[in-house]
Amino acid sequence: MDNPLEAQIQELRQRGIKATVARRAVLEVLLEGPSHQSADDIATKVSSRYPEIHLSTVYRTLETLERIGAVDHVHLGHGRAVYHLGDDPHQHLVCDRCGSVIEVPNEIFLTLNKTLSDKYGFKLRQNHFAVLGRCSSCQSVSS
Ligand SMILES: [Zn+2]
Ligand SMILES: [Zn+2]
Ligand SMILES: [Zn+2]
Repeated sequence: MDNPLEAQIQELRQRGIKATVARRAVLEVLLEGPSHQSADDIATKVSSRYPEIHLSTVYRTLETLERIGAVDHVHLGHGRAVYHLGDDPHQHLVCDRCGSVIEVPNEIFLTLNKTLSDKYGFKLRQNHFAVLGRCSSCQSVSS
């Protein structure tokens, strides 16, 4: 499908969820980007565009969309949660100096996942938190 918003709407219908105005609006904002936005950012954008949609509806909508896997949230840095679309699985590396986010494929964590599972019976949910570190341009800077 050419229109990414319509593709997302189609996906909702396939999961048996009605494409309400609020759900469309939230998906629209996420598709437009940036690819990671906080619930507050999303709510502000949605309600400025669709004044009839209450902020509380936007938060509830995010929960619904998350439950069916259409969106997902991740905590970058100190617990700040941001939302992204669920159809493009990826993991997050965050620079703790400049805050830049690098998206990496899930496979990067395969070995770590397997080791934790084999040795400790622990199932890693690496998608819930970002991995913190220093990006390449910040490594040369002191502080
Ligand atoms: Zn993401
Ligand atoms: Zn950096
Ligand atoms: Zn969380």
